[in-house]
Amino acid sequence: NDLRSAVEHQQLALYYQPQVDGQGGISGVEALVRWSHPVRGRVSPAEFIPVAEESGLILALGAWVLDAACRQLAVWTDHPQLRRVTVAVNISARQIQQDDFVQQVRAVVRRHGIEARRLKLELTESVLISDIQGIADKMVALQLDGIRFALDDFGTGFSSLSYLKRLPLDQLKIDSSFVRDILIDPSDKAIARMVISLGHSLELEVIAEGVETEAQSSMLASLGCHRYQGYLYGKACAAPAFEALALGAAAAPA
Ligand code: C2E
Ligand code: MG
Ligand code: MG
Repeated sequence: NDLRSAVEHQQLALYYQPQVDGQGGISGVEALVRWSHPVRGRVSPAEFIPVAEESGLILALGAWVLDAACRQLAVWTDHPQLRRVTVAVNISARQIQQDDFVQQVRAVVRRHGIEARRLKLELTESVLISDIQGIADKMVALQLDGIRFALDDFGTGFSSLSYLKRLPLDQLKIDSSFVRDILIDPSDKAIARMVISLGHSLELEVIAEGVETEAQSSMLASLGCHRYQGYLYGKACAAPAFEALALGAAAAPA
């Protein structure tokens, strides 16, 4: 009930976490939803997204997130230093399973007048439990518009590799659970190496999540991964704070 009223009463906010390339430039952001509860304070999406998924509220919440992210993208499009930034939006299984998902996304893109290729949709392997062909068809339709797709938390779910060739993906995200101990756990390093080489062979971009230290980032670079997201580069923050960070990075001497 609280969550329902949060969606209705604008207690939700979108935060943006930078994604950087090998030169340290900001190439994009991931939009991450935040809930400020009037009594409980800040509630983590790790807690309320599963509740939203079970209750069906994820459809209203997800529509709000997509709209807010595209509105922000439109603002940045007019900004000389931010116009190339991509915005990645997390999409839950129930959202993409809706019959009119493609039409919904197209309507939001049109409403805000954004370039479709600046929008990236992040899916997890959980969307592939049922009707892979139906999901793939929707992805193909949106990809023809220019929208890009990332596979989030890669390696933590079902990880049947056959879907990688059936889905029109642009990016694999190495899950933070493999990055955390990449310096000390040889299995994590081996998995990261495997994901990177798989990505390259399939001509997919690879980005590592949860990068917190220079040592992790150097290790990933040595394995061939040159895109990173994590606290080392910045936590998710409100749009003005992200803009200050991005403009500061752009202004800094090389
Ligand atoms: P995710 O999509 O894998 O997002 C990455 C999570 O890792 C975010 O947590 C982010 O703040 C956190 N993170 C980023 N860098 C680091 C780091 O260096 N170290 C550590 N320890 N953590 C880091 P957050 O924002 O709490 O989101 C958790 C999950 O909630 C997301 O995982 C995503 O699955 C879900 N979520 C968030 N926003 C949305 C949304 O708008 N829609 C949907 N469907 N799911 C969302
Ligand atoms: Mg994500
Ligand atoms: Mg993830």
